[in-house]
Amino acid sequence: MYWEKEIETLDRSGLEALQLERLKITLNQVKHSIYYDRVFKDLNINADGVKTLADVEHLPMTTKDDLRDHWPYGFLAVSKDELIRMHSSSGTTGRATVIFHTANDIEQWTNIVARSMYMTGMRKNDVFQNMMTYGLFTGGLGFHYGAEKIGALTIPAGAGNSKRQIQLMQDFETTTIHVIPSYALHLMSVFEEVAVDPRKDTKLCRAFIGAEPHSEKMRKKLEDFYGFKAFNSYGLSEMCGPGVAFECPSQNGLHIWEDNFLVEIIDPETLKPLPDGEEGELVLTTLVRDGMPILRYRTKDLTRIIPGPCECGRTHRRIERIKGRTDDMMILKGVNIFPIQIERKLMGVPGVGNNFLIILERAEFTDLMVIKVEVQREYFMGDLRQLETLRRRIVEELKSDILITPKVDLVEPDSLPKSEGKAKRVIDNRKD
Ligand code: ADP
Ligand code: ZN
Repeated sequence: MYWEKEIETLDRSGLEALQLERLKITLNQVKHSIYYDRVFKDLNINADGVKTLADVEHLPMTTKDDLRDHWPYGFLAVSKDELIRMHSSSGTTGRATVIFHTANDIEQWTNIVARSMYMTGMRKNDVFQNMMTYGLFTGGLGFHYGAEKIGALTIPAGAGNSKRQIQLMQDFETTTIHVIPSYALHLMSVFEEVAVDPRKDTKLCRAFIGAEPHSEKMRKKLEDFYGFKAFNSYGLSEMCGPGVAFECPSQNGLHIWEDNFLVEIIDPETLKPLPDGEEGELVLTTLVRDGMPILRYRTKDLTRIIPGPCECGRTHRRIERIKGRTDDMMILKGVNIFPIQIERKLMGVPGVGNNFLIILERAEFTDLMVIKVEVQREYFMGDLRQLETLRRRIVEELKSDILITPKVDLVEPDSLPKSEGKAKRVIDNRKD
């Protein structure tokens, strides 16, 4: 049941001792980069001054902008000859950042991806179809290497080409897929179009869904339709990519691999650490990275540590599903709203289809939120009063959660722009 029993179930003090040892090595490693060498000198930081894990609080934080400002090689802690791979972030919030890996970095990354997949029950007799973009995006090769490490037959399907994906699943009896949740939702209508029932006509039993925020309701909707168990997969290119945190069979939070990463949750305003249980921004330090180690990286992702042990026996702490990025927060009439709140409500309303889009407009006196929601085709046939009833119900549901009254437009299936990568949920047309 464990990929590496000893490390996955190491008791807290053992884990912390390992983290401290690796943190010290990392601090001596980062000094070799142009960026940290300068920062350490400017701030008068002595790498050997770190004696306990709590001392990490005195180390500088690193942001995406720091990576961008020292693009492309400012964070390299080894000579270029040592590198074997480059990846980049998706560029969701601006210019993409690049990350370089040594052979050892790739091995470490592959191992935590394999560990994560194995944890969910995937074995060498599984057939794994990786429906993620290959290339610079880490979701392709990251999972690919992990699956091969387990020894599973791996189909590098890549993203898009929906009908072919379904054909591959049927022809090669795929059991396990890796897919972006919004794309999995879109694929449901393609399954319907080609009259294939994934529960009856495929061998799918497991999916890894990640790369973007999604609600529990969204997971349920996918699990009900496909008949698989969907495991939340969290990662970011700056730390390696997928494999940073992953759900175990308990599906109650994601184990974050603490032998590879030092985890902090901070208050994004004061930058002070928060205790387990409190929601804040996830901050991560690489502990086994040679090529491009990063200290206290501000992920901008909001979550909390779930206190207490997990029933699976793993000791690595769990984070709750990501609520969103601090960048994604919409402020309307003084109310803070995350797209996931809207998704959660929409996924719970019968009749709602597979896509939606939030548009923010500045009206004469106030801001306006328009939500375009795809609904099932039957609503556009026959008695249109049903459509109006559904629309009112959606407005009421949303109002109860986000406290403002959005304008809801119901649209036909497949009419909104769809993405093969991360879904773009919000268009902000407000001018400052
Ligand atoms: P970018 O930051 O440009 O999107 P990445 O491809 O490295 O580049 O994506 C990492 C980010 O994707 C994370 O910081 C997080 O915001 C989001 N993400 C990844 N996995 C998940 C997940 N399971 N749930 C929510 N958000 C996720
Ligand atoms: Zn667990």
